[in-house]
Amino acid sequence: MDADRPPHSNGQPLNPDSGTVAGQAVTGQVVAGQAGAGALEAQRQLQSWAAPLQQACQLETDKGFIDLRGRRETFAQFLCRCLNDPPSALPATDREALRGQGRRFSDYADLAPDRRRQLVVALRQELHGLCRRHRPPAPPPAPPRLRLAPLDPAEAAGPRTGAQRTPKPAATRPIDPETPLGQIPGIGVRTAARLAALGLLVARDLAHHYPRDYLDYAELVRISALVPGRTATVVATVRRSHAFVSPRNPQLAILDLQLQDITGRMQASRFSIGRRFTSPNWLQAQKRLYPVGATVAASGLVREGPAGPCFRDPLLEVLESPGAPLRSQQIGRLVPVYALTEGLSAERLRGAIAELLPHLERWNDEPLEPGLCRQLGLPGRAQALRTLHLPPDREALRLARRRLVFDEFLLLQLALARRRLQWRAQTAPALASEGSGEGSGEGSGEGTLLARFRQLLPFALTEAQERVLAEIQADMARPQPMARLVQGDVGSGKTVVALAALLVAIEAGCQGALLAPTEVLAEQHARRCGDWLPQLHVSCDLLTGATSQRRRRPLLQDLANGQLQLLVGTHALLEDPVCFQRLGLVVVDEQHRFGVQQRNRLLAKGLQPHLLTMTATPIPRTLALSLHGDLDLSQIDELPPGRTPIRTTLLRSGQRDQAWELIRQEVAKGQRAYVVLPLVEDSEKLELRSAVEEHRHLAGEVFADLAVGLLHGRLSSEDKQRAIRAFASGETQVLVSTTVVEVGVDVPEASVMVIDHAERFGLAQLHQLRGRVGRGAAASHCVLIQSSDAATARQRLEVLVRSNDGFEIADMDLRLRGPGQVLGTRQSGLPDLALASLADDGDVLEEARACARELLDADPSLRGHPGLLRALEDQRRRWLDSARLN
Ligand code: ADP
Ligand code: MG
Repeated sequence: MDADRPPHSNGQPLNPDSGTVAGQAVTGQVVAGQAGAGALEAQRQLQSWAAPLQQACQLETDKGFIDLRGRRETFAQFLCRCLNDPPSALPATDREALRGQGRRFSDYADLAPDRRRQLVVALRQELHGLCRRHRPPAPPPAPPRLRLAPLDPAEAAGPRTGAQRTPKPAATRPIDPETPLGQIPGIGVRTAARLAALGLLVARDLAHHYPRDYLDYAELVRISALVPGRTATVVATVRRSHAFVSPRNPQLAILDLQLQDITGRMQASRFSIGRRFTSPNWLQAQKRLYPVGATVAASGLVREGPAGPCFRDPLLEVLESPGAPLRSQQIGRLVPVYALTEGLSAERLRGAIAELLPHLERWNDEPLEPGLCRQLGLPGRAQALRTLHLPPDREALRLARRRLVFDEFLLLQLALARRRLQWRAQTAPALASEGSGEGSGEGSGEGTLLARFRQLLPFALTEAQERVLAEIQADMARPQPMARLVQGDVGSGKTVVALAALLVAIEAGCQGALLAPTEVLAEQHARRCGDWLPQLHVSCDLLTGATSQRRRRPLLQDLANGQLQLLVGTHALLEDPVCFQRLGLVVVDEQHRFGVQQRNRLLAKGLQPHLLTMTATPIPRTLALSLHGDLDLSQIDELPPGRTPIRTTLLRSGQRDQAWELIRQEVAKGQRAYVVLPLVEDSEKLELRSAVEEHRHLAGEVFADLAVGLLHGRLSSEDKQRAIRAFASGETQVLVSTTVVEVGVDVPEASVMVIDHAERFGLAQLHQLRGRVGRGAAASHCVLIQSSDAATARQRLEVLVRSNDGFEIADMDLRLRGPGQVLGTRQSGLPDLALASLADDGDVLEEARACARELLDADPSLRGHPGLLRALEDQRRRWLDSARLN
């Protein structure tokens, strides 16, 4: 498809020091040879024939190869029909090849999904190749060269800022980072007040007010190649010029130009409202400004007009001759677009920022050594900032952005890496264990707790579990505290690995703590431990907010004298006046973060145990590195064998009955079902059906003959326990719940998960919820009920129908909703990234992370990098400030 895009600025090498590309020419490609008339016809036929096929393939791919059903025929039928009848103008060999493709689709409906995918992929490649071979004929003649004026920041606001165009001696009053905006030439008291509304107070703020987008006027095209909906610049001759007052609105003056180049004609209109524009004098002057025969450059958004593409209110400049340089700083360029505020025009903001740019070099805020910059192939920071605000071309802009993104990631990674060094500088008990190294075959360490634990388990650990356990054991055997994060998809068996690690610590004579985010989960862990630990003669107890004072006292005593070897509890456990005799390992389950605060709390108790965190949700690597760059990562990337994949369906709210029917069928087979809702109590504003109300409805009417339980966060901990226990034992067959069941609840007999108002949840969270079923051998179902009709919501939810891979889903969530949403509101600690995108800048992040490690390896104190130390200090202050505000 790129072939018919007009060629444009093709990334000429820049002089990295000047930041300008004076007289840079936009060159066109060599025009391809003329195509014969027959080829032209074949090409046209092929295009109109292939487009619907390509579209159908795309749709079918999007839907996950389900053999889509159209109004009259299925996807496969449609393909067979079209492929059997290829365009007559194609060569015979091509036609035969297409018919061959068609025959392969005849039994598509009966094929396995994987085979279907292969067929569709092969067809798409074939079609693509075919269209390329019959490539569109010559593109329109290359546009002429446009000579841009040298970039002069002070004039970047464009020619319309009239009064400010008088040359100013820039040197008279230097602008410093801390200069209040009101004192900057060209920014008056009122503009300064409006900038303050955007949070911009001093020069530095304004320099870091990054464009949120760019208008691409650098795309210089011929009129026949204009594409409606895109921005472009044309150079053309004025063929007709007409200025008049609108017949419908006496206040509205219209300038109508007809422009022409060698490929065609177009309309360009400008509209001016106000009495002074409708005077005959002004109208005459307009006509004289753009006389017939003049060459103009026009930049704007291309619209679809009644007679082809047109411009409305474009930027216009008359060129003295076709090759004359432009005065405008916007026509033919990438023009930054900023977030604005009321009463502040784009022009004024661009002008204000342009005032600063010549001063940036003096600000001396370069954190990187020049040698490092060169080595990384990145421009200096001041230059990058200038380029971001006034890009000479796309390539320079790309590099400038990369530099600033790199800085953001580098500072973040440095801060995290230093935190890791600090933690590692402590000492922790070295907990060596049974053949902690390779393989740990049957014989090794026989009789150890861990070996006996393995024998107790009704299953063998998966390879991934073994690998991660070995990584953990290697860490624990060192005299520095471990700080490791285990990521694993729902149901990958993290808990068993955690218990194994705890047993290693206990065997070495230490105590262990297992912390969960909710009481429900802590209680479940305690129950699980109760199944195994007594047989290993390991003592274990549970401490939560619900533990009575009577039980609490002896428990704390046993903990302090070392009688109690494993304590299970909620995260709040750390806040309690809990005293361990010799704490060796803390496992934090189902949480993204074991925050600095919590670690400090441990340290304050004189404890330096090994730390193991296990995440609730798989998160994309970029997010993991940004959030946990201070931890070592392990992944359990394999599910235990024998799981049947969960079948996920998407229903509209009118189709609820289908979900209830499915529940009936499953319960009749002895299975159980969850029904999950987003809110506890009625909120009229959101019109959500609350769990309480839904429970009443389901228990009283829909499933009057079944036992329906209710679980939500407002229940007392005893009632929660009771509800879970009743569901786990089969006393209740349906459990209506809020997202309390999200994390970790494990009832293997549950085979249906119905999620109401699914569009209110993040994908990662839905995936996590879905993981509550499919834990036993029975085939399981997840039904998402979508209450809004929004197409975007549907599209998002369909990702879940298609994929069972937690990482893929989290990646999609990151792309669609951003990092804050992926983590959910409970999780914070996200870095402040102004420019960097965790979805798109993964490669820069990796580079920055590697660089951070190298820098610290060579110079742990960073004393040789004063610029970096200063920037890190700034960052720390900003974090403190924002923590104070939140
Ligand atoms: P999660 O990673 O979501 O915390 P769990 O640790 O709760 O997963 O494990 C899910 C289920 O899989 C549990 O019932 C557990 O006993 C079981 N399980 C764990 N490891 C294995 C294994 N290697 N083979 C078979 N089942 C396993
Ligand atoms: Mg778990």
